[in-house]
Amino acid sequence: MNIIVLGPQGSGKGTQAEILAKKYNLEHIEMGKFLREVAKLDTKLGHHIHETINLQGKLVDDITLKKVLHVKLADLPREQGIIFDGVPRRQDQLSYFEDAMREFGRKIGAVIDIKIPDEESVNRISKRRICRKSEHVLILGKDVKSEEEKCPICGSEIFQRIDDTPERIKTRLEIYHKDTKEVLDFYRDKGLLIEIDGVGSVEEVSDRIMKKISALVKKISLECHPGLRAGI
Ligand SMILES: [Zn+2]
Repeated sequence: MNIIVLGPQGSGKGTQAEILAKKYNLEHIEMGKFLREVAKLDTKLGHHIHETINLQGKLVDDITLKKVLHVKLADLPREQGIIFDGVPRRQDQLSYFEDAMREFGRKIGAVIDIKIPDEESVNRISKRRICRKSEHVLILGKDVKSEEEKCPICGSEIFQRIDDTPERIKTRLEIYHKDTKEVLDFYRDKGLLIEIDGVGSVEEVSDRIMKKISALVKKISLECHPGLRAGI
């Protein structure tokens, strides 16, 4: 089974993708993380990505993203299900993403859209602090009580990313909603979109997702083994 998980910043998308990956033994592909891994490789593609993201601090272009996606898909056996975390999120990514799926004989079984109100996103992200040494993500008021505290995991200094201030978050959310609209419409038309209320605890949101996915898994297995339906 191949699943896409989408959701704005602060929706807990990454955490939910991880839970799903564990439960259904899926390969969790988070493009940002994978790009940083490829950037460490001594290959032409690795050098190019390193230069773009680490030295120039820019986003990689779609041609590079496409190559990276191919590298990853070529590396995985077809039976290995995948959970795509945050991709495709734009119309232009959608076409090469769908092309790559076809090329590698894969099908998307479900697209989970975790929805939270913008105010909730802003509220959650503006509490986020990062530690300088290991980039541990810490929540102000939960993992650390004040700005002056050190990282409880590695003891290094903590700071707030400039991108995590309310104004910046609002701008990013606007872009996110605009970007994803067509992708969501595309999968909604195919009957693959599952909308999930992302407000609540990690467990509550996870329960909502699991209910939908386990029903889907049942349906898929019935389609593959019609005998089960008749109780044979
Ligand atoms: Zn740390």
